[in-house]
Amino acid sequence: MSSEEMLYAQGAKIWVPHAELVWESATLEESYRKGAGFLKICTESGKLKEVKLKADGSDLPPLRNPAILVGQNDLTTLSYLHEPGVLHNLRVRFCERQIIYTYCGIILVAINPYAEMPLYGPSIIRAYRGHAMGDLEPHIFALAEEAYTKLERENCNLSIIVSGESGAGKTVSAKYAMRYFAAVGGSESETQVERKVLASSPIMEAFGNAKTTRNDNSSRFGKFTKLLFRNQMGVMFLQGATMHTYLLEKSRVVYQAQGERNYHIFYQLCAARSKYPELVLDHQDKFQFLNMGGAPEIERVSDAEQFNETVQAMTVLGFSIQQIADIVKILAGILHLGNIQVSKKFNEGSEEEDSDSCDIFHNDIHLQITGDLLRVSADDLRRWLLMRKIESVNEYVLIPNSIEAAQAARDALAKHIYAKLFQYIVGVLNKSLNNGSKQCSFIGVLDIYGFETFEVNSFEQFCINYANEKLQQQFNQHVFKLEQEEYLKEGITWTMIDFYDNQPCIDLIESRLGVLDLLDEECRMPKGSDESWAGKLIGKCNKFPHFEKPRFGTTSFFIKHFSDTVEYDVNGFLEKNRDTVSKELTQVLSESNMSLAKQVMTLEEIDTLSVDSAKSSTLGGRVVISAGRKQVVPSKQHRKTVGSQFQESLASLISTLHATTPHYVRCIKPNDDKVAFKWETAKIIQQLRACGVLETVRISAAGFPSRWLYPDFYMRYQLLVYRSKLDKNDMKLSCRNIVMKWIQDEDKYRFGNTQIFFRAGQVAFLEQVRANL
Ligand code: ATP
Ligand code: MG
Repeated sequence: MSSEEMLYAQGAKIWVPHAELVWESATLEESYRKGAGFLKICTESGKLKEVKLKADGSDLPPLRNPAILVGQNDLTTLSYLHEPGVLHNLRVRFCERQIIYTYCGIILVAINPYAEMPLYGPSIIRAYRGHAMGDLEPHIFALAEEAYTKLERENCNLSIIVSGESGAGKTVSAKYAMRYFAAVGGSESETQVERKVLASSPIMEAFGNAKTTRNDNSSRFGKFTKLLFRNQMGVMFLQGATMHTYLLEKSRVVYQAQGERNYHIFYQLCAARSKYPELVLDHQDKFQFLNMGGAPEIERVSDAEQFNETVQAMTVLGFSIQQIADIVKILAGILHLGNIQVSKKFNEGSEEEDSDSCDIFHNDIHLQITGDLLRVSADDLRRWLLMRKIESVNEYVLIPNSIEAAQAARDALAKHIYAKLFQYIVGVLNKSLNNGSKQCSFIGVLDIYGFETFEVNSFEQFCINYANEKLQQQFNQHVFKLEQEEYLKEGITWTMIDFYDNQPCIDLIESRLGVLDLLDEECRMPKGSDESWAGKLIGKCNKFPHFEKPRFGTTSFFIKHFSDTVEYDVNGFLEKNRDTVSKELTQVLSESNMSLAKQVMTLEEIDTLSVDSAKSSTLGGRVVISAGRKQVVPSKQHRKTVGSQFQESLASLISTLHATTPHYVRCIKPNDDKVAFKWETAKIIQQLRACGVLETVRISAAGFPSRWLYPDFYMRYQLLVYRSKLDKNDMKLSCRNIVMKWIQDEDKYRFGNTQIFFRAGQVAFLEQVRANL
């Protein structure tokens, strides 16, 4: 009997594809015979079916894992590491046992329960303290504990990389990890530090989170927080923190899609307007920048209360009353700016409309208030909204703005001010969190947007997916290294087959004449356009295997990412990459009589490559970087494009991560309705694929995923050979006898120094043999 015939015997349980469930369990009605070309099965729902097979049986359906393995808390310990096996295991844990955490090798998979779980209190923190990862149920605290012990033992830097799609629970997970570190790394005397670290979250959320259709509290930026620890006689104390942010979504300041909101802070401020009569605020619905999405409220959230919390947290972080008063002025200034009416202009003395120019009333109330709040000249503001300056070598011309151009200039200015304000706030937080921290070890927590693919994918999705491609590569390299180390330690020789490397896809994006390079080049052309860029892409990038041109036209292109092929709509790429704002308007703001506004507007653009936030501190809003690495880009000329800045900050992030021992959390959103413990298989599979869990499983499966310590193996399988083949005093020899009796193909196992390694499926096979005895 072949091993297939043995495994696919009558009564064996298998998985068959199903239209809605994706996979359905079934039982074999008859034993499989090699060459038969079919299988007779009975599905779980009671249907008798005949499944056609190839003559050589190479397409036999996946087998179910043996019952002893169901509900395993580590997916890689399953004998059959295939998609239905992984999925079933997660489903049993989540739906039947309400367990949200599961390991997948070194990854922690966290499924969002959309329900309050009694999992995070101080007693649970104490329970996980001092325990190794395998001791207790999988948990974010177990992962954090492992990082913390490693920090204590080896004094090395660590990182926790959290990813997943919007609403999957990244920010919640990152916060729990930080809470753990604050609890175990806190000291009696320095309670301020932990308070500050924890208080930074509500501030960052107020300014950087917004309600979207997918998440009521969606982070619209990426964040890498380094928690700095000081070694005091072998104990690690939290000493401070630094924060680095990535790609704030600026467009939200001036535009929100249906059902979405602007950043929380604006609504909080409107709700608290009675405290600040000088801001001349009104109900949020009265502001153009706040009412576009038609979704002013968030269920179960009071913006007024949240405002108090934000201010309270800002106080903890050392913002003065004056600073807060000035910050709210800038915020209100942005709102009034958005309400400035740009109207049609009529040619003098005629009824004829002049479509090349436009007008703003001198006494436009919002123009006046904006000027007053930001302490700038309303006339200057008006002038540079109505026209623009075009410079050539030694002269300049003034050109009137059309209505659209004036509105675009107004919106660009609003986005610019908000982005600068955000940068300023991060700077103040960094200064407060990192006051005088000496050389420390750190644990970095990365909360960054996961892979995205929508109906229409634009520049933002491109950047996000590019980041994920880089992170996945970092992950693959790490897993590869770990596997190699493990095999080396066990004295086993092997070659990793079919190891997926993302480099070709990254080359398409990063290399000379790749996507980003061509985009920057097009942005430098005075007459550059999205379409002509796309034309060049199609001409030049075709040689990259991960590039695909559209079936027709030049309005989109495809990139084959590791998790999926994504079509990018080229519309808007150039403008978003250039991110232009009128120099004259920013100049008006930089000359403000409000010192904070002036300071915010003149913050230097940071060359993110050279800013290692641990080594920099923000003094009076200016970024000071330790000797030798300072590279500040003049804010007015030759601004770097968004794409190239992002590329540099990613490179810096990746090299930081490479110098740490990483830990990975993959958050999964089980349904789109925010319903507690509701499981939507298709949605979950797609995420397991996108966040690399299935890829990890595949990498594991390509090696020797099942491992048994000799004594454990002996205990379970001694029955499989005659007593004469067993010797309690020589476990290795005994185990060798068991394995060699039953498994003929020598490539299916390896004998290591302390463990036996098996290829996928072998343990299930031995289980079957054992059951047949
Ligand atoms: P985005 O990319 O949009 O920022 P995210 O991955 O950061 O999304 P979160 O804001 O962390 O998502 O989570 C969304 C919501 O899911 C939370 O507000 C909370 O209601 C719920 N949630 C997430 N994780 C948990 C958890 N462990 N326990 C209970 N509820 C959770
Ligand atoms: Mg988030």
